[in-house]
Amino acid sequence: MAVKRSLCWVCGQPLGQYKAFPIGPMCAVNRAIAEPPSHLECAEYAVRACPFLTNPRMRRNEKNMPAGRQEPVGMMIKRNPGVICIWVTKEFRVMRDGNGALFRVGDPTSVTWWAEGRRATRAEVDHSIEGLPLLRSEAEKDGPEALAMLDRYIARAQRLLLP
Ligand SMILES: [Zn+2]
Repeated sequence: MAVKRSLCWVCGQPLGQYKAFPIGPMCAVNRAIAEPPSHLECAEYAVRACPFLTNPRMRRNEKNMPAGRQEPVGMMIKRNPGVICIWVTKEFRVMRDGNGALFRVGDPTSVTWWAEGRRATRAEVDHSIEGLPLLRSEAEKDGPEALAMLDRYIARAQRLLLP
């Protein structure tokens, strides 16, 4: 409903032309995420207020989930990434994946990185992008072309980190 009516995933109010996605380092590399976009203000609220996003030692809270909930589609890293990025873009595509959807984000108009509820340092961001063993092991299974593509994706993400 949020996507069909172009509503913010956090507050439910209509979105403007800029869409903000709070995304982990793996999603910033492969540009795919399982949650629809929010207002920039709402995404900034989420990265400051969400206990999972502000405390790197916090584990994902999976208690008291609603009945009938589904695991997010796509490949998800359950560890806490420690840093999170707010990816703002004017364009995204919805990709059907089994019984769910993935969102493929377009080129960003701005990217900011956050850790512990504050802006992340460059060192924290570099560290989080280097630590993507799941992406690398998946690419290794798919062979040398997939590995080369992963390296191109990582280089593309790192260009966005330059001041
Ligand atoms: Zn909102």
